[in-house]
Amino acid sequence: MASTKTGIEWTDKTWNPTTGCNKVSPGCKHCYAEEITRRFKGTFPNGFTFTIHEERLQQPRTWKKPSRIFVNSMSDLFHEQMPLSYLERIFEVMADCPQHVFQVLTKRAERLSEIAPYLDWPDNVWMGVSVETQKYAYRIDHLREVDAKVRFLSCEPLLGPLELDLTGIHWVITGGESGKNHRPIDENWVRSIRDQCLESKVAFFHKQWGGSTPKKNGRMLDGRSWDEMPAVYRELLTDEELNAI
Ligand code: SF4
Repeated sequence: MASTKTGIEWTDKTWNPTTGCNKVSPGCKHCYAEEITRRFKGTFPNGFTFTIHEERLQQPRTWKKPSRIFVNSMSDLFHEQMPLSYLERIFEVMADCPQHVFQVLTKRAERLSEIAPYLDWPDNVWMGVSVETQKYAYRIDHLREVDAKVRFLSCEPLLGPLELDLTGIHWVITGGESGKNHRPIDENWVRSIRDQCLESKVAFFHKQWGGSTPKKNGRMLDGRSWDEMPAVYRELLTDEELNAI
């Protein structure tokens, strides 16, 4: 699984210059990345152990078609074992590929805010943190310190109601958990986040309700899908592409 097209609704493809991770909070309980390493042992001989893949570092330079790229879907870019020198090289590649938007998502918000001042943040790098319950809303405070053009939240798997301070946040994604042992989501939790986004003029994207499979319960909320993207991204699109969203 060097790079893949992905079924994730808010991105086009994935890039994994590292793989492997370990669990840090309840959102990790049924980590799909860990499950994939278990299922495809041949592709992941190190299993879910944090592993650097130098051979993948330059991949985005070879992808000519402008894409939204989810960085490290199989790991966490701010993992404790990620060396600063390798992280700097990853940021160099992203800066050198302005044709792409790079979407980085972490649960390690403390390490993000420690390291962020030492990195250059080109406009095409969007930075997000996961917030699955109110207990982890403090990650947003760390994110706010980061000088990224787009700062976003992934509230997936959403495991409880959230009251969010959306100051300095440009985009919020919600989603329910999927799989055999998925934990339930309450429609009102999502509705409340949607309303908070509307109030704060923050783009809102509801990915899916989850269930035994990701698409099982669809993604409609109050009679429509919610596919908003940050304003900065909409500015990059042609009218035709905008109509297709
Ligand atoms: S931080 Fe992400 S990749 Fe790492 S264990 Fe948790 S869910 Fe999985």
